[in-house]
Amino acid sequence: MSGSDLPGVEVEKRVSALDGTVKLLFRFGDGAPAESVVMFHKGRASVCLSSQSGCACGCVFCATGALGLRRDLSAGEIVAQFAACREAAGGAAHSIVFMGMGEPFLNWENVRGAIAALSDQKSWNIPQSRMTVSTVGVVPGIEALAASDLKVNLAVSVVTADEGLRGRLVPMSARYPLGEVMAAARRCGERRRRTVFLEYILFGGLNDSLADAAGLAALARGMDCTVNLIRYNSAAGSGLAAPDQATAKDFQKALMAAGVRAYMRRETGSDIAAACGQLAGGGPVRGQRE
Ligand code: SF4
Repeated sequence: MSGSDLPGVEVEKRVSALDGTVKLLFRFGDGAPAESVVMFHKGRASVCLSSQSGCACGCVFCATGALGLRRDLSAGEIVAQFAACREAAGGAAHSIVFMGMGEPFLNWENVRGAIAALSDQKSWNIPQSRMTVSTVGVVPGIEALAASDLKVNLAVSVVTADEGLRGRLVPMSARYPLGEVMAAARRCGERRRRTVFLEYILFGGLNDSLADAAGLAALARGMDCTVNLIRYNSAAGSGLAAPDQATAKDFQKALMAAGVRAYMRRETGSDIAAACGQLAGGGPVRGQRE
C-alpha cells in the first residue's frame, strides 16, 4: 500500500541534504494537506505522522499555529501516511510518533483506529509500545488513554513550567492548565505502568534558564518520566529564538543534577522544513536522541 492508494491523494517527497530526513507532503482528495517525516538513526527509521490537516490549537511557536484546522484526518488517511513513509524508508519502519500536524487527542477516534490498524499483527504489525501519542495538554484525551488498554506511549509537550508564560505560548492552557495536565499525565503513567515522556522545546532567553530547569524538575519530581529537550529551530518564522548550545547543555545538566532523566534531541531535516516547529503543523518535539 502506498499513500496514493487512497483516491485522489497526491504525495510529494523532499529529502534533506543534511541528514537524509524525508518529508512527505500529502494532498488528499478534497485538497486537505498533511505532512509526515521519516527520520533515520542508527539504521532505523522513525516515522512522524499527522493526525489532522492543520490544527486548531494555535501554539505560537508552531509554523501552523496560524494555519487553523482544515479538518480531521480519517484513520485511513493516517495509515496511508505511514504506508508512504515506510516505502520512503526502504520498506521498514521501527517506530511511530503522532507529532506531526494536529493534536491527536482532538481526533482521538481516528487516531485510535489508525493505531489499531498499524498494530494489527496480520497487517502492519508495529507494536503499540513503539508508538507515541504526543499532546499539547488535552486532559480528557490523556484520561481516555489512561482508561484504555492501549500500550502506546504518552508524550506531553510541556513548553514551560511557568503557567503564565505557557498561557501566552499555548492557548490550550486556558482550558487545561499545566497543573491539571501534569496530574492527568502522572495518573496515566501510573495506571498503565509506563514512562511518560515530557517534551520540552528550548527557546533562547524565554524558557532556558536554570530557574526554568528547576521548575521543570519540580514538575517531574516523583514521576516515572523522561524529559526530551530540543533546541528550537529559529527558522520557523515565529520570531522566537534558538538557545545557544552551551545554555541548552547547562539546562540538561541542571535537570540531571536534580535527578531527572533528560536527553537532548538532535534536530533533523531543518533544510527541508521538517524540523520541530517547521512541519506545516509543527507539533511538539521530534528528533533523534543525541
Ligand atoms: S504544536 Fe501541536 S498542538 Fe500546537 S499548534 Fe502545532 S500542531 Fe497544534
